[in-house]
Amino acid sequence: MKKNKKCGQQVNSAVCTDTVGPGVVKAIIFDLGNVLIDFDHRIAAQRIARYTDKKPEEIFILFFNSPITALFEEGRISAQEFFREVKKMLNLKLSYNRFLPIWNEIFYLSQKNKQIYDLAKRLKKSYKLALLSNINILHFRYLKRSFSVFDAFHYIITSFKLKVCKPHPLIYQKTLDILKVSPKSVFYTDDRAELIENANRLGLRGFVFKNVEQLYEDLKSTGVNIN
Ligand SMILES: [Mg+2]
Repeated sequence: MKKNKKCGQQVNSAVCTDTVGPGVVKAIIFDLGNVLIDFDHRIAAQRIARYTDKKPEEIFILFFNSPITALFEEGRISAQEFFREVKKMLNLKLSYNRFLPIWNEIFYLSQKNKQIYDLAKRLKKSYKLALLSNINILHFRYLKRSFSVFDAFHYIITSFKLKVCKPHPLIYQKTLDILKVSPKSVFYTDDRAELIENANRLGLRGFVFKNVEQLYEDLKSTGVNIN
């Protein structure tokens, strides 16, 4: 028995079932935030600070790391309910209609994003391409209206529709069901390491997204053909 680099576990290389090469990967899953579209929650926190007595740092913590935001991303509360809770939490002097653009306008496209979009379009010709995002309905609608990145994908899979967020195993299981593929035939990249760790436990071929060059290397290492 020897350590097989590709398998990452003690196996006899002759019977390793986790080898890679052309034809192994059937589907490719990309994360959205900070991979395909960049964002910065601090932009909203700064703007919201004008309408409350709380500091941007407090807003950031209360707002973006709160259970209410998690519920919103899981699609368990409506946009109006989310706003009511946020308003209470921050003692916000702001109407829903004025809150909406502040909440939404945190996204932008970087050079990196554009390169990944181009890559996704090329991969779409030969692989099932999916976008898998932890996202709330307001951000999703806003992005669909404002950014033309979604046409690079066959499947757009969102936490608020599936009612579960990454890294819960259920969201990966549901994604595999939608794509009709086995975990081992999936290449998955996401900028958050803990999400990749959980996906890999389920057998997906997950790679932490660092930059475009690394992504190309990781795709090639699993035998993905980039035309
Ligand atoms: Mg992300």
